[in-house]
Amino acid sequence: MHIFKLSKSRLLRVAGCAVFVLSTFSAFAQEAAAPAQVNHGIQVQNLDRSVKPGDDFYEFANGDWLKRTEIPPDRGSIGVFTALGDLANKRTVALIEELAKSNAAAGSNQRKIADLYNSYMNEEAIEKNGLAPLRPHLKAIADIKDKKQLARALGETLRADVDPLNNTNFHTPNLFGFWLGPGFSDSEHYTAYLLQGGIVLPNREYYLSESPRMSDLRSKYQAHIAAMLKLAGFSNPEARASGILELETAIAKAHLPADQNDDVIKANNTWKPSDFTAKAPGLDWPEFFGAAGLAKQAQFTVWQPTAFAGEAALVASQPLETWKDWLAFHLLEQYGGILPKAFADERFNFVGKALGGTPQQRPRWQRGVGIVNVWLGEAVGQIYAQRYFSPKAKAEAQEMVANIIEAFRKRVDALDWMDPKTKAEAKAKLDTLYVGVGYPEKWKDYTAYQVKPDDIFGNLWRGSLFEYRQDLARLGTKVDKHEWSMTPQTVNAVNLPLQNALNFPAAILQPPFFDAEAPSATNYGAIGTIIGHEISHSFDSAGALFDSKSRLRNWWTDEDKKHFEESTTRLVAQYNTYKAFPDLPINGRLTLAENVADVAGVAAAYDGWKASLKGKPAPVQHGFTGDQQFFIAYAQNWGSKPREAALRQQVLTDPHSPGQFRSYEVRNIDEWYAAFDVKPGDKLYLAPEHRVRVW
Ligand SMILES: [Zn+2]
Repeated sequence: MHIFKLSKSRLLRVAGCAVFVLSTFSAFAQEAAAPAQVNHGIQVQNLDRSVKPGDDFYEFANGDWLKRTEIPPDRGSIGVFTALGDLANKRTVALIEELAKSNAAAGSNQRKIADLYNSYMNEEAIEKNGLAPLRPHLKAIADIKDKKQLARALGETLRADVDPLNNTNFHTPNLFGFWLGPGFSDSEHYTAYLLQGGIVLPNREYYLSESPRMSDLRSKYQAHIAAMLKLAGFSNPEARASGILELETAIAKAHLPADQNDDVIKANNTWKPSDFTAKAPGLDWPEFFGAAGLAKQAQFTVWQPTAFAGEAALVASQPLETWKDWLAFHLLEQYGGILPKAFADERFNFVGKALGGTPQQRPRWQRGVGIVNVWLGEAVGQIYAQRYFSPKAKAEAQEMVANIIEAFRKRVDALDWMDPKTKAEAKAKLDTLYVGVGYPEKWKDYTAYQVKPDDIFGNLWRGSLFEYRQDLARLGTKVDKHEWSMTPQTVNAVNLPLQNALNFPAAILQPPFFDAEAPSATNYGAIGTIIGHEISHSFDSAGALFDSKSRLRNWWTDEDKKHFEESTTRLVAQYNTYKAFPDLPINGRLTLAENVADVAGVAAAYDGWKASLKGKPAPVQHGFTGDQQFFIAYAQNWGSKPREAALRQQVLTDPHSPGQFRSYEVRNIDEWYAAFDVKPGDKLYLAPEHRVRVW
């Protein structure tokens, strides 16, 4: 669980977007018009003082910024996260360009970074190569003669492209997705997780919703499929496109809805290889697993069993030719962004414009940086962290983390409803928590990843195979609890529930989130609440199901569990009342885990800040008290301006609530009422008994 939504699929990220994307298809992140750092502490120039804090705290904290900010034409959204993402991007490209000039030794990470970046930047070579790099793959698809060979081809597409727990990434256009993770019951060893897949659009709603916007998107999608097939020289592209859309719609019907995906109890299904044939007939599973390199794997965790049954049945019932078209289109679509301009433009017209509402493609160099960050992320990160993350910043961030963990521990102790036994279990979880700050202690080894000059398709193809094979080789081996799941140059943070670990990358530990020159009130309000958020994920609606050894085990008394669930039910109801658009409410169930983390995270950060003052008064700055600065800094984390299409997509697919509603979390904190004199009658006012306190 992370603080902010990253893109979904590695390949899609490569093709359409790059780093710092809100969701699968929204392309943004660029030279920022976002809040400039003009002073240390809260950004007073962003406030709209004409708004009463108790009526709309988001507008009060961000209103003037929202008024003067325009979304650049090549983005779906803009905000603090994207502004910092731009900075990380600029630093990264400068670093890559240096490496490109340095003529590093063949086979070194430096050389791989330069070659990968340049292979994407060399548009001339891409035009010249045309579809040639894909031809052998397209021919292999065309040569499929029967369903057995189809099963083999489907198995060959399996990649490590989903991550249900750390990065809440449930989307893969391949038939199924693979994740290497610690086992639910044996968290000491890595096991194989399999997830539903097979659709290109973000989730099943896009295929099944009857709203005019969705049906319009589907027509555009069908036209896009036809256009891609036509460009690749397929006969009857329209008829094929209609068959592909029908097939994906049938797959979508078999899928579990987005708001049930984070239910780990439902996801905890251990299947032996023979169970697949019995419980999900229709696909030749031995053939599939053989091709996927999983013939010897003795057991799998199947995240959505009903989807596996449904999808396997479709392999049997739907015509071979339709499946072959589906395979060919998915290949073109996944690599569309690195194909000649005609393909890349067609793909952007649908993915960027129609789906993401973004009028213009980002500059090529930024997309190139995105690609390098995906496939050689830690190779870049190692240099990045050395250059941009000082030992002093690391020490200060570690101290904040320690203070907030201690505050969380005290909050657990103070809960009057919780049994001492449950409290002891919760505190044991805090004791075993590993907190990574800045960068990993051990770096990934890229020796086996072969990068060639002027071969962007091959570089990405080999990159995804490299990642997948590395994961296969680790099945059954001992879990490294210190392993990171984010690169240092990522503006984000993450909780890894099966490792009981947190990662705070170097790139988020900088202004405006973290500023050594700023008052502690704003540092705790900004990065502190993010730290608190990630700690709280260990105790959110899903995290609370894992124990101090990261096993899926119920450590709650029935009574305590009931109390906890009552609080979370009330939080679902609170978020269900918010509306992104008159016809589109927030899904309180989909966003529950993130909202719990926000509620508990702000409370723990506030306590941690107070304790750090050691009884001294907090300095007033810009006329605001320490408490006021703390809450304003929190709300300014979430200042963001999305396009309508991007926001709609976020509400439907993203487990994070939109920024505006994340800032309203303060309604649940008593100290916020005192700080801004919020009274009954103010629009955000909640009577004390309606404020939700989870931890
Ligand atoms: Zn989160």
